Amino acid sequence: MLCNREIETMDRSAMTSLQSAKLHKLIRRLCDKSPFYQEKLAELALGPDCFTGISDLAKLPFTTRSDLVNHYPYGLLTFPLSSVARIHITGRGAQPVAVAYTSGDIAKWLEMLARTLVAGGLNPGGVIQIIADYGLQPEGLGLHYAAEITGATVLPAALLPPETQLATLAQFGVTALAAAPEYLLALAEAARALAIDLQALPVSTVYIISSRPDNKLSAEIAGCFNAAAVDVYTVNELIGPGVAGGCPANCGLHIQEDYFYPEIINPLNGEVKAEGETGELVLTSLGKEAMPVLRYRTGRQAVLNRAPCACGRTLARLLF
Ligand SMILES: [Zn+2]
Repeated sequence: MLCNREIETMDRSAMTSLQSAKLHKLIRRLCDKSPFYQEKLAELALGPDCFTGISDLAKLPFTTRSDLVNHYPYGLLTFPLSSVARIHITGRGAQPVAVAYTSGDIAKWLEMLARTLVAGGLNPGGVIQIIADYGLQPEGLGLHYAAEITGATVLPAALLPPETQLATLAQFGVTALAAAPEYLLALAEAARALAIDLQALPVSTVYIISSRPDNKLSAEIAGCFNAAAVDVYTVNELIGPGVAGGCPANCGLHIQEDYFYPEIINPLNGEVKAEGETGELVLTSLGKEAMPVLRYRTGRQAVLNRAPCACGRTLARLLF
């Protein structure tokens, strides 16, 4: 099933045109509203007229996590605070990162995340239990409202103890779980201790929420629940869960390219690598309003594949 057929099956040339138009608009906005990027672009003698298309992205400077930390909490806002509907904070201790969202950002984020939930089979009649932080981190609220978009029934189980989670799973006929790998493994461990047979429950899909997708770990978790595993790639410094997600063909994670443009670079010299080569994943938030970020270095190794997928989606795939 597809949540957004037009975007998820868009042909490559149309997607490139869409990305180019969004980049052009973004650069104009940053040149107008962002002192941080005004300075970075000025250092390279770049202005809005230096960009004709998405292929010009490599001219732009990188943004690092340190940049985000150094401008905490409001330094990268491009909208007045009166237009900011929500703020999430990620990272702990002395190096937190704040991410601001306009109401438009939230709507786009939820639609983007709903694509992956639908790809995993979530639909009206399904019951999804969300085991995540509903506080300052973005996972809980993001998953919750994206799941509601699909028409499924949502159980906001937050971070209740595993015994309570297991009781809810059994009592409400839960068909899908969404949680970070460590919570899912803790649930499996608690089930073993309580002699609860997880495989006898009607859970058919486990959404694995992670900033470090790991095929082997996902397969292990899927085995515990006798369910399909769908990885949900999370970049909390940019938006939260849903930047990319698994599909029924299990051939990598489709990146939501209309919102995030992916590049793979050589981490040593910053040069863009050819498709199919391994390198560091760099993301540009094409559609974000409150706090857009250019060429964010994720620190994650990945390979990019733009060939259409067996599932019918044409969105590029990331293999971690
Ligand atoms: Zn696919």
